[in-house]
Amino acid sequence: MNNIVKLNNISKYYGDFCALDNINLEVNSEDILLIKGKSGSGKTTLLNILGFLDEPTSGGYLFENELINKNNYSIIRNEKIGFIFQNYNLIKGLSCLENIKLPYLYSKSINSNNDFIIELSKKLDIYNILDKDVKNLSGGEQQRVSICRALSLKPKLILADEPTGNLDPINKNKIKDIFKYINNELKITIIVVTHDDLFDDIADKIIYLKEGIIDENT
Ligand code: ADP
Ligand code: MG
Repeated sequence: MNNIVKLNNISKYYGDFCALDNINLEVNSEDILLIKGKSGSGKTTLLNILGFLDEPTSGGYLFENELINKNNYSIIRNEKIGFIFQNYNLIKGLSCLENIKLPYLYSKSINSNNDFIIELSKKLDIYNILDKDVKNLSGGEQQRVSICRALSLKPKLILADEPTGNLDPINKNKIKDIFKYINNELKITIIVVTHDDLFDDIADKIIYLKEGIIDENT
């Protein structure tokens, strides 16, 4: 099977502190990968490196078999990766639709695709609130808007950092169903940092981080 992501001996230091120690990781295209581990084990650091939000201290990163460097990372990040965060990271004062369309502002090559966004918003059950200011939404609604934003450019990879961390069980399950849809129907690879066992049964692979190392014994 093709891999979308390959990390070769990735390490990350903050000063003398080693947050990631020689990580080797391959993620197959169209898989769902879960990253688990205690608080402080390096999960967010790893996810940020996977999304080029942070640079490793050493090691190599191949995305779709292309070696990542200073010249290509920003286009790949903007057009091929969608991000979902625990705190939604929506811009208050803008409507849902305006938030969802923000990625188009940063993309040179992809034009706004209204039909796709409308279809997606119906799937995510936010079609009726597209004109609302995001500050008036519930947590579950905000997360579904942020997922719609992450999908607006039809990325190859979704990176989610504790996407259900602030949600109740009903809304957690909605996010799980949405991830199933994104993976099965849209054929997008998903990497999720999570403490929730709820995602285990839709995962193709689960890795556990322990003090910056992938723990092979769990
Ligand atoms: P997790 O997401 O698993 O809770 P993080 O990746 O956020 O863990 O952090 C891993 C370790 O790296 C922690 O000990 C944290 O304190 C440290 N760390 C993270 N970001 C920074 C930073 N910008 N500067 C210094 N230390 C950091
Ligand atoms: Mg974290």
